Amino acid sequence: MKKQTEAIHTAYQLPDAYGALSMPVYHSVAYEFKNAAEMADAFCGRSDMPDYSRVTNPTVTYFENRVKALTGAENVIALSSGMAAISNALMAVSGAGKNIISSCHMFGNTFSLISNTLLRFGVTSKLCNLTDVEMVERMVDADTCCIYVEIITNPQMEVADLRALSQVTKRYNIPLIADTTMIPFSEFSARDLGVDIEVVSSTKYLSGGATSIGGLVIDYGTCEGFGKRMKTEMLHNFGAYMTPQVAYMHTLGSETLSVRYRQQSSNALELAKLLCTLPSVCKVNYVGLKDNSYHDLAKKQFGETAGAMLTIELESCSACFNFINRLKLIRRATNLFDNRSLAIHPASTIFGNFTQQQRDSMDVLDTTVRISVGLEAVEDLFDDIRQALEQE
Ligand SMILES: *Cc1c(COP(=O)(O)O)cnc(C)c1O
Repeated sequence: MKKQTEAIHTAYQLPDAYGALSMPVYHSVAYEFKNAAEMADAFCGRSDMPDYSRVTNPTVTYFENRVKALTGAENVIALSSGMAAISNALMAVSGAGKNIISSCHMFGNTFSLISNTLLRFGVTSKLCNLTDVEMVERMVDADTCCIYVEIITNPQMEVADLRALSQVTKRYNIPLIADTTMIPFSEFSARDLGVDIEVVSSTKYLSGGATSIGGLVIDYGTCEGFGKRMKTEMLHNFGAYMTPQVAYMHTLGSETLSVRYRQQSSNALELAKLLCTLPSVCKVNYVGLKDNSYHDLAKKQFGETAGAMLTIELESCSACFNFINRLKLIRRATNLFDNRSLAIHPASTIFGNFTQQQRDSMDVLDTTVRISVGLEAVEDLFDDIRQALEQE
């Protein structure tokens, strides 16, 4: 059977009393045991029975099993947000005195987590150009605990060579951790590219149209002790497990993930090509375009699709504000991969509280508008953009 078929038909951990076709939402904090020995087994991890919903819940476990079927991962841990997945995974691999190698082209909160929060606990970072693998290798020292990479950076749209990075991590016996939010795991195998641990904001493609906030840590079992530490230490001590209601919605989202994603990605490519024809659009950044400098590498790594996020460069910051203010169909909102198309000016919002110098070092330009392409007809999106640019 293909992964998609297997995922949709993932068996429940125990047969449902009523034969429910949709996994029930187990809205219960605790679970009763037949006897003391069974209880001891559950608490000490000798059985799979749930004991307390901060660390195990049947509905969440079912969602995790779905993701296991889609990825072939050894351990999948569902958390309360993408940031919870990222912070818990990084805290599981690091510790005082350790350093993380990454890039300054990073999701804003992840950048702040690494450069402010973890720093206060004695974890340092070495930010470099992850597309320059020789430089990355020179950065590694005895205290490096991982290389952390985003597969398509936002909003710069940079793509690093995952196989080449994984050769470095394997040589030094450290994990390669990748934020794969931009292209869903239904479309490519991060494991085959040498990634040890995937972190995902399931808020985005997976949630089924911006229904709820969630995150995933997908562990391929290649980083010793990591899966066990996530389950026995991080979930217990930080308490950021996914809730059953969210797991239910993300399970539904997982059933249509690939169909929605492919349509959104094909809409994005079509729209990107049309935007290239508009004189007031100085540049269209989309790795699916043949003339994009990361096109070939992205295709080799992720296959035919390039995701549903693109950015455009306009003449000035005020041109970006005017454009966003005139949009009628495309919504002014953050978030990515909603069923609706969304537009945002990253420099003044997501990166608005960073200094100009920080924005410069992160290549966040005040002439960039980010568009997350939804499921509308491309013609309607293009019409809206043209009128907003006053180019009808
Ligand atoms: C949205 C996003 C996150 C954070 O996810 P939340 O679910 O909002 O916490 C992390 N990384 C990337 C690439 C994202 O787009």
